[in-house]
Amino acid sequence: MYDSVIIGSGAAGSTVARKLAESGKNVLVLEKRPHIGGNCYDRPDAYGIVIHEYGPHIFHTNEEEVFRFLSEFTEWRLFGHEVVANVHGTPLPVPFNLNTLHKVYGKEKADRLEALLVDEYGAGSRVPIMELKKNKNPEIEAIADYVYENIFLHYTMKQWGQTPEEIDPEVTGRVPVLLSYDNRYFQDKYQGMPKDGYTAMFEKMLAHQNITVETHTGCKDCMAFLENKVLYKGIEFTGDVVYTGALDELFDCEYGRLPYRSLDFRFEHFAQDSFQGRSVVNYTVSEDFTRITEFKYLTGQTDAHGTTIVKEYPFSYTGAEGEIPYYAILNDENRALYEKYKAKLAPLKNVYLLGRLAEYKYYNIDAIVKEALKLSDTIRR
Ligand code: UDP
Repeated sequence: MYDSVIIGSGAAGSTVARKLAESGKNVLVLEKRPHIGGNCYDRPDAYGIVIHEYGPHIFHTNEEEVFRFLSEFTEWRLFGHEVVANVHGTPLPVPFNLNTLHKVYGKEKADRLEALLVDEYGAGSRVPIMELKKNKNPEIEAIADYVYENIFLHYTMKQWGQTPEEIDPEVTGRVPVLLSYDNRYFQDKYQGMPKDGYTAMFEKMLAHQNITVETHTGCKDCMAFLENKVLYKGIEFTGDVVYTGALDELFDCEYGRLPYRSLDFRFEHFAQDSFQGRSVVNYTVSEDFTRITEFKYLTGQTDAHGTTIVKEYPFSYTGAEGEIPYYAILNDENRALYEKYKAKLAPLKNVYLLGRLAEYKYYNIDAIVKEALKLSDTIRR
């Protein structure tokens, strides 16, 4: 009775579900959590403050197609997202940019260093810290050492349990040294929040006559992935199946668990107007948590009293009940393990893997939506 089964209702699953439904397919969405929206899920807390239950999600994109698609389901609160690092009590703009350079070195020295950096890399360029560190000019080396030590090393040790050298350069490359005076965390054309939140946006996306959503339903409750076929409620299912969960779990982790980093989100509420006066502060040289997010500055909410923050404490995912795998740990060994699991699905031509978990990738929201739009086109053909 269904043409397609989508497993997971986050950005990946919801987008594919919508596109397939619009093309006339009858779509079933299975969601093991009690709610839709995946890790973008937001809701009011006990004090009426809208929080992101699974950590701060700031939407940003240069992709017109993605922005247009999502805008069918939401209006936006667009703003330039800014972050500071707390470095021994001093707030420094992150990514490290020319404003940061001037704050750290003072005008005279910073002017000279700026000229040096711009001469070397070009005005406006984005230089990954691990690239900057390779520079042999002693003055540039000194800047690189400062940025490495004060912005990257301790934060990365907390987040990954490894040094910046030990992790995939793509990860630290997400926050390059910026040779401009742009204090925004992202340089994308569109950035901000869905006006009424992510949950409302995904609810609207899934509200289609051809979509049925079953929450509280793990895919194993009604599906089985056999060697050469997929079963739905015990009967062979030949329609499209899009799986957005962790791939190892589909096979009971028979080759061992795919490694992930997880986060413990600790929320605190204060009966005061403001806690830190801004949305995100990264703790790059101190504390056990990586960052503090104060939600009202992300969402723009003004109709509630007090303020709610969240601190993020990273740890190694073990698969224990209640833990959530947030970040794939990208390295050759883990990718090889991922490929081993993926190979098991090769005979199942109607099963597609999509998203952060199923593809074992570090995706931003817009990149997931883009891939989901692409996959929907492939499936419809
Ligand atoms: N990073 C860092 N210091 C910062 C910000 C980022 O060391 O102040 C490094 C860290 O390794 C982090 C990575 O850059 O995991 C990517 O940061 P991003 O803010 O993109 O992480 P996300 O928001 O996806 O957790």
